[in-house]
Amino acid sequence: MISANDVGGVHIKYLYHCRRQLWLYARGVRPERLSATVQLGEAVHETSYTRSSPIDLGAAKLDHLDGTAWVHEVKSSSRPTRADEAQAMHYCYRLNALGVDAQGGILHYPKTRRTKRLPYTEQAAEQAEADVAEVLAVVSAPGSPPRLAQSACRGCSYADYCWNE
Ligand code: SF4
Repeated sequence: MISANDVGGVHIKYLYHCRRQLWLYARGVRPERLSATVQLGEAVHETSYTRSSPIDLGAAKLDHLDGTAWVHEVKSSSRPTRADEAQAMHYCYRLNALGVDAQGGILHYPKTRRTKRLPYTEQAAEQAEADVAEVLAVVSAPGSPPRLAQSACRGCSYADYCWNE
């Protein structure tokens, strides 16, 4: 079972997208093949943000930290989701725990040329801490959480697993 220090950006993203996805991932269930959407995400990432190197925080890996301590994340989707925002705040939370005074997150959407700036406030810090606790609660549940409505599963790499059993 994972501990608070093992909780990373992927866990937070899945917490906000689908608790079942989080539970499966944390239990080591891996889809046979990455979905086309995940592959697209990797391709967008590689082609649009090649000048910076990812920062490895152990469980969490963020795309880039600029000279003014803003976290930059590049996304393959068109617009911000709560999952993207929570993930960026999680990275700020991790950086602060390491003594880096992260100022906030800047989400980049190359497909639509949008960016979103999210300051790391006291409230964001409290939420980030609560998110870690919530991840642990979901993962420790004995059974997998229910599926989302199928329309919400588009692009999820567990779609075959969940819907073709
Ligand atoms: S396919 Fe749907 S229900 Fe299954 S893990 Fe993915 S989002 Fe959740």
